[in-house]
Amino acid sequence: MSSLLGAYEGIVGPAVLRQLRQLGEKLSGTRVVHVNSTREGGGVAEILEWMTPIMRELGLDATWEVIEGNPRFFEVTKAIHNGLQGANVAIPAKGWKTYEDVNARNFKRLRPILEEADIVIIHDPQPAHLLRLCTGREGKWIWRAHIDISRPHRPVWKVLRSIVEPYDASIFSMAQFAQPLPHPQFLVPPSIDPLSEKNRDLSPMEIEAIRSEYGLDPSRPLLVQISRFDRFKDPVGVIAAYRMVRKVSPVQLVLAGGGATDDPEGKAILEDVMEAAGNDPDIHVLLLPSDSHKTVNALQRLATIVLQKSVREGFGLTVTEGMWKKKPVIGGDVGGIRLQVVNHHTGFLVNTPEGAAHRIRYLLYHQESIDRMGATAREFVRENFLLTRHIREYLTLMLVTLRDIKANIVNV
Ligand code: UDP
Repeated sequence: MSSLLGAYEGIVGPAVLRQLRQLGEKLSGTRVVHVNSTREGGGVAEILEWMTPIMRELGLDATWEVIEGNPRFFEVTKAIHNGLQGANVAIPAKGWKTYEDVNARNFKRLRPILEEADIVIIHDPQPAHLLRLCTGREGKWIWRAHIDISRPHRPVWKVLRSIVEPYDASIFSMAQFAQPLPHPQFLVPPSIDPLSEKNRDLSPMEIEAIRSEYGLDPSRPLLVQISRFDRFKDPVGVIAAYRMVRKVSPVQLVLAGGGATDDPEGKAILEDVMEAAGNDPDIHVLLLPSDSHKTVNALQRLATIVLQKSVREGFGLTVTEGMWKKKPVIGGDVGGIRLQVVNHHTGFLVNTPEGAAHRIRYLLYHQESIDRMGATAREFVRENFLLTRHIREYLTLMLVTLRDIKANIVNV
């Protein structure tokens, strides 16, 4: 039998897989239904894409359902999403009615599978209203919040809270992202797939091809930040740090981000970046198409140091990605970056361009620290941020939830 999980044995070792299989046996035949609002695009769909088949391989009867909506529904849910992250949005009663109606239409279609499921995991706010409709439910329902709702716009949270309170449990990526709710809350950070195109090993030839495609000099150190052009990722601050370092070291900088965007703010930030970069030939501002996984992979591998100098951050997957490639990461002292960058061990946490420049200079003069931190970073990711840990935590919390063990916050 070909095994999806078997492919990870060389990376995580047989004991990790054995443990997953044991957990899987305990949950054998459990009917699990994931529900979200898109089959592709975005981190949630990416996670469900690998998680559902792996759960099935482990013996669970796992399926993934996607609710269907119209443009008006997605406008409303985008406003809910923004409101939960703190934006001052007004959602009129008509908007909430659209939200409920679309959920009701989807419920008609999904009713049998939702009623019979042992566990339903609802991802994010879009399908959250399904619980209220499923009066004949037999299983446990878990709400998985993928975003930071610690400082929501109150009127939006007031309505959503009443929708998610009746759930049996909820999952947040970090304690800092959560809201008090009257049921057990689990903390499950995201993860990366080490065998994906973004993270798999690349041959020296593949890496060299990207180096020459972008005209990077192999004889000089390279700083890399991969990020959407967003003010919270502080690309202009990265350029400021680079300029301070440049006075003492012939360093090069790559700032790679998404391509043309409809987001007017993204365009404005990109203009600021271009202006800050001026005509310095050693600053490479790259606009990559969204499927440039191999290019991102190679750039992270070409880096001497990976930067993620965010001034606000959710989790910061680019940090995990850089660490997996054995790079020390200099990251902003915010959000999920703090979970990943163990200051002085896997990289440095910084608050200013000056701080970033100071740490970059230190590393450039201490190759042994680059090697040591890079190696520690890789092992830290292996232990904490690979998909095998992620799935173990899901299986564990399902066991806990099915057994009705109550706790306020369970760190699985
Ligand atoms: N990414 C990419 N191309 C880009 C910019 C980002 O593929 O031009 C990827 C990056 O490798 C990471 C994800 O998009 O996998 C960004 O996730 P992160 O949590 O770092 O930041 P977010 O954009 O979600 O705030």
